[in-house]
Amino acid sequence: MTTIPTPEPAAHPALTDLAASFGRRVERVGDRVLVAIGYGLANTVVIIGDGGLVVVDTMEGVQAASEARDAIREHTDLPVRGVIYTHGHPDHVWGTRAWVSPEDEPGVEIVAHETVPYYVNEFANILAPRYTLGAMHMYGSLLPDGPEGFIVNGIGQRVRAGADRGFIPPTTTFRDEQELTIAGVRLQVQFTPGESPDEILVWLPDDGIVLSADTVYRSFPNVYTIRGARYRDPRDWYSSVDRIRALGAEHLVPCHGAPVSGAAEVDAVLTTYRDGIQYVFDQTIRGMNAGRTPDELAATVRLPEHLASSPWLAELYGKVEICVRNIYAGLYGWFSGDGADLLPPPPGEEAAEVVALAGGPDAAAAALRDAVADGRMAWAAKLASWLLRAEPAIDEALAEEVKRLKATALRSMAYATINANARNWWLTEAAVLDGTIAMDLPAIAGFVARSNAAELLHGVPERDTVEALSLRLDPERSADTTVRVGLALVDATPCTLAIRRGVCAIEDGIDGCDLTVTLRRDDLIALVTGALSWHDALAMDEVALDGDRDRLLATVALFDGWEAPEG
Ligand SMILES: [Zn+2]
Repeated sequence: MTTIPTPEPAAHPALTDLAASFGRRVERVGDRVLVAIGYGLANTVVIIGDGGLVVVDTMEGVQAASEARDAIREHTDLPVRGVIYTHGHPDHVWGTRAWVSPEDEPGVEIVAHETVPYYVNEFANILAPRYTLGAMHMYGSLLPDGPEGFIVNGIGQRVRAGADRGFIPPTTTFRDEQELTIAGVRLQVQFTPGESPDEILVWLPDDGIVLSADTVYRSFPNVYTIRGARYRDPRDWYSSVDRIRALGAEHLVPCHGAPVSGAAEVDAVLTTYRDGIQYVFDQTIRGMNAGRTPDELAATVRLPEHLASSPWLAELYGKVEICVRNIYAGLYGWFSGDGADLLPPPPGEEAAEVVALAGGPDAAAAALRDAVADGRMAWAAKLASWLLRAEPAIDEALAEEVKRLKATALRSMAYATINANARNWWLTEAAVLDGTIAMDLPAIAGFVARSNAAELLHGVPERDTVEALSLRLDPERSADTTVRVGLALVDATPCTLAIRRGVCAIEDGIDGCDLTVTLRRDDLIALVTGALSWHDALAMDEVALDGDRDRLLATVALFDGWEAPEG
């Protein structure tokens, strides 16, 4: 067996500098804004009002938020009167219980865009396992600290997300803009979509301070996030930067990283930022209209020097090449326009053909060793993927060597890149390939379901909680089943799971059901998260079943997560 060279662990100096910039501290902006930086991925911002505080964003969990809160508490001990969520991303909303306990202080206003609960549900419920898997790669959650592993995230410190989720749903929502006075502070919130579809800015007109959320941070923006997200439209994004710019603020306070002061400096930053986004958008569209493919565009669209050299557009977090592919896919779809890409051979077959073309697995592996030895790492990683994907599979000993060669290629690229997201992803994937890290999707899905405590699902629209069930129906086990299960929710809108041979439609009302379960929304949420089994639920006094018990247990067993009929 050949010796596989181990790349020397290293970090791009720009990432080491970036990590230093997120040192823990509280910065004061103007007379009454405090910004806690470096306690997690995002900042927490606190506005000091008359006799009370407004907390803007609450970080990724109660632990991180508590540490930021303790640092803020060295400056002020006023009670919290309001919370504002700039958007529903986990690093902005999951630490609220560090500040507020609605059971003890029911009057605290929680302000957000009207779509925040909908998107929280999408993240935390419908696509949670997949998003979590992506986030664990992109944020390097399982990497050790140090040059061989985690240095920094492109916009903040290591994410400290565990099961300590303390999301509290908004009590005040709006659509485009709204004036508010909380704790005597005059505030204006405005809708600024782009980085997320529910993003807002917070403007303090009496102080000339704008809290810009994630619309601006010190990196080329993450117009596509490799952890996965809906299409982020660059036109929305730069228009939102324009909306911030139009305020003429004296201070710009982003939700990641340090504030900027001085009206001229703020305007210069915002102008550069919006121009960088528009430039990439416009040039991608021009190239598309000239008939170019996403691969060609990704290889050629670049920022001009006057924008590329700005520290606000350095590719520490977002990356132009990745953004270009997103624009193409978001506006045109995935098809490149090359007929060979339309209905390609299945991946195992295509890979086997490439390997055969190389002269078989041994010859392809020799080419792979050469590519790694020569430092042609991007090519080496692709060749390794073909070898590992080929069907029938190459022999096990060779596959192990190929995995280690691919890990070496990915690590080499990671140690050299300025992009924190790519670094974290490649190092995580390399560690999974050589077995240093185990990444088990069912285990992740189970963890996510358990940590999505009832509270989080309570914060999402009730219909969305139920609709997620249709995604869990197993098509094979339900292939011959037709049954209507009524959910007679006593404290929410009743609905029916209409199961028709592999499809579970959600219908209003409970008419014409074969089985009807009467229960509270709390109990349904506990069943959805797995905190309560159907066996135990049916034994509860407040849960009633109209219909055959065995038939109900057999029916719920058609859903992922409820497989084993209990009792
Ligand atoms: Zn954020």
